[in-house]
Amino acid sequence: MKALVYHGPGQIAWEEKSMPTLQDPGDVIVRINKTTICGTDLAILKGGVATVTPGRIIGHEATGVIAAIGTAVSDFKVGDHVIIPCTSSCGRCDSCRKGLFSSCERGGWQIGNTIDGLQAEYARIPLADSSLHRIPAGMNEEAALMLADIIPTGLEVGVMKAEVGLGDTIAVLGAGPVGLATIMAAQFFSPAETIVVDLDDHRLEKARELGATTTINNRDGQAYDQIMALTHGRGVDVAIEVIGNPATCQLAQDIIGPGGRMANIGIYSKSVELHKEILWTRNITIRMGVVNTNTIPVLLRMIQACKLDPTKLITHHFRLDQIVQAYEVFKNAAREQAIKIVLTNDSTDPPDAAGEDQMIRRIVSQVLARL
Ligand SMILES: [Zn+2]
Ligand SMILES: [Zn+2]
Repeated sequence: MKALVYHGPGQIAWEEKSMPTLQDPGDVIVRINKTTICGTDLAILKGGVATVTPGRIIGHEATGVIAAIGTAVSDFKVGDHVIIPCTSSCGRCDSCRKGLFSSCERGGWQIGNTIDGLQAEYARIPLADSSLHRIPAGMNEEAALMLADIIPTGLEVGVMKAEVGLGDTIAVLGAGPVGLATIMAAQFFSPAETIVVDLDDHRLEKARELGATTTINNRDGQAYDQIMALTHGRGVDVAIEVIGNPATCQLAQDIIGPGGRMANIGIYSKSVELHKEILWTRNITIRMGVVNTNTIPVLLRMIQACKLDPTKLITHHFRLDQIVQAYEVFKNAAREQAIKIVLTNDSTDPPDAAGEDQMIRRIVSQVLARL
């Protein structure tokens, strides 16, 4: 099979790899139908994620069809159509019992990190029973794909941690794919004002389509003054930081009003300052975390009820074997006006038969070889 392999900073290649095999009774093998590139993949490509070592197949967001199952898998069967979330969970450890799947003692973010990932024709998925989600019949597969990471991240780490509520004035700092997903998810809770700050006019236009009531291009550094003017000097009820840089972290602290809630989604590569000497008088709450993906079932219901359309985040389509080209587009997202790129695996046999047939043929040949 073919897969996208990380070979060290700045180096990726679409190349031949051996078929993944079942290694644990709880594993399944999935024939990938659709996958996408995440900002985290770009961080990996820059060498910024130390746990990803050269030779690793990357990618952690995909949908596909189960091609083989381990002997302990009971809730899924060959042919099932599934979402593969970025987080794997055993469902039994202390963290899982608290719903903290990202801190699972046996799982967490492994796929495309410490084990081979999903930007491939096939992938091995550990802890399948407690990690995978079945895609309801008839659902747009590309909508389901957006639930593998970014929509749950915006909802769980941004909107829910910040407790966005009816009538709130919220500010989302950063309108990349996760920022836009956060804006969509925030609308479930009916904030009165959704202020969005970014440096890219195309992304701000998209933010307005998804529910932003005011967008601010902070090229001139005037966002603080504009937000304070909009809120009559009070500041916002909720500030969600989605970039992970010191300047936006500072802006979130500057604009947060009395009783405000700050949520942090952005991933920082260096330490930032937190001005407790100023913030303590405002009775604010600061929360942060990693996505647990435990909102996927509810988000599937919201798609089915036509109350969420994550396909609005998709701007580009490529065949899976064009993935190196797709990375070039995603790396130049501002120039290319790219938000989410969908890669479709149409290079092999029909999805529901290919994996199973190949798997059966391989198992038969292995058995014959032993005779
Ligand atoms: Zn991701
Ligand atoms: Zn666990």
